[in-house]
Amino acid sequence: MRAMVLNEPKRPLELRDVPKPKPGRGQLLVRVSTCAVCRTDLHVVDGELPDPKLPLIPGHQIVGQVEEIGEEMWEEPERPDGRGAPTFGIGDRVGIPWLGWTDGDCTYCRSGRENLCDNARFTGFTIDGGYAEFTVADARYCFHLPERYSDVEVAPLLCAGLIGYRSYRKTGDARRLGIYGFGNAAHLIAQIAICEGRELFAFTRPGDKATQQGAKELGAVWAGGSDEMPPEKLDAAIIFASVGPLVPAALRALAKGGVVVCGGIHMSDIPSFPYADLWEERVITSVANLTRRDGDEFFEIAPRVPIRTLTQTFPLEEANIALDRFRAGKLGGTAVLTIAK
Ligand SMILES: [Zn+2]
Ligand SMILES: [Zn+2]
Repeated sequence: MRAMVLNEPKRPLELRDVPKPKPGRGQLLVRVSTCAVCRTDLHVVDGELPDPKLPLIPGHQIVGQVEEIGEEMWEEPERPDGRGAPTFGIGDRVGIPWLGWTDGDCTYCRSGRENLCDNARFTGFTIDGGYAEFTVADARYCFHLPERYSDVEVAPLLCAGLIGYRSYRKTGDARRLGIYGFGNAAHLIAQIAICEGRELFAFTRPGDKATQQGAKELGAVWAGGSDEMPPEKLDAAIIFASVGPLVPAALRALAKGGVVVCGGIHMSDIPSFPYADLWEERVITSVANLTRRDGDEFFEIAPRVPIRTLTQTFPLEEANIALDRFRAGKLGGTAVLTIAK
């Protein structure tokens, strides 16, 4: 099968003909239709995340069709939250996210925090992902996808949507919500926030009037540069940009008891700041990975909003072009690789 392969970090992906994977116990063999490009893919390719599997097929926002089912399904039908695991048949549409496997047994898994599992494996990082014609995935971690979306439209929801949603839930019932870094995840989460009646304050790169205008058209009550203070203090802020100095900036924009949620997997160093900026029970937290429960909730909410995605498609063999444009901030929407013809 054709695959775009990372041989070593900081090098372009290589188009290669590699053996088609075989589904093991409890796994699905999936013919990949689309795979959206995530900022995490950039961090992996650029060597900013430690210890990827090498060589690696990246990609963890995968949409495809079940082609084959591994011989035996797992005997554990229940998810830790008591919901039944999804079942799939040949030909079913399936979504494969970042969280690819957990041990189900560590203190985190046993306390509803499988996103923090000590032994978790991640699609497109420690397991081969979706920049390929086929991939295999543990059926228990896959999702059925809302029918209203096409394979291209739904792909960005699998990570920007899911992990964005987890970041959003960490803001509790904040009424005035700031979002720093108005890219793919922000665009999706803003739609839920506005639908749920939050007042949205959008922070972009200073001077990026086009993105600010886009945020206002989406329904933000205010949009400005990340060097500006909002007209009112915020109850919460989510930072989607991987820029450490935004943390103290967001903290200064918070009302008492407010929370700053860092939604990315990688961020440049956070500069020091006076304790007074944290005082009065302000909180800084991060979001790591996702749980299957986040996915179940998100895919229930997304079609009701309904969340709309902005995408730009590239054929599989142009994955390097998609990554380069993403790195340069020159994409008009989430890059989605189209694979099955
Ligand atoms: Zn675990
Ligand atoms: Zn991702």
